[in-house]
Amino acid sequence: MSGNIKTFKRLGECNRCGQCCKILPRWKDLPDIVKALFRMYDPNAEIVLSKVTYGVCYFLRRESDKIYTCSLYGNPERPKFCFNFPNEPSQIEKIPQCGYQFKEE
Ligand code: SF4
Ligand code: SF4
Repeated sequence: MSGNIKTFKRLGECNRCGQCCKILPRWKDLPDIVKALFRMYDPNAEIVLSKVTYGVCYFLRRESDKIYTCSLYGNPERPKFCFNFPNEPSQIEKIPQCGYQFKEE
């Protein structure tokens, strides 16, 4: 930890529960500033979030009761926010199923 800024180390691995792909916002509901940031840094986000219905990503595929897969996995159209998820503790506060944890450094 440096000063008042907390840093975290990510531990664990993805267990493919699919929960993070079921709590997405719809593109049209995002504030303009967030849309602008996505357009600059993660342009694929607009394509994916524009297809969200009831929070669930259009590209999520169910393989079994507990295993899901991303049909864009390995594809350059997959958004950066998916590739980097989760990158801070608050992102998984409401996802107890997530296989990642964060440890304060
Ligand atoms: S693109 Fe793939 S990883 Fe990203 S939200 Fe959709 S299903 Fe999940
Ligand atoms: S919530 Fe966590 S474990 Fe589940 S699919 Fe997303 S990153 Fe993987």
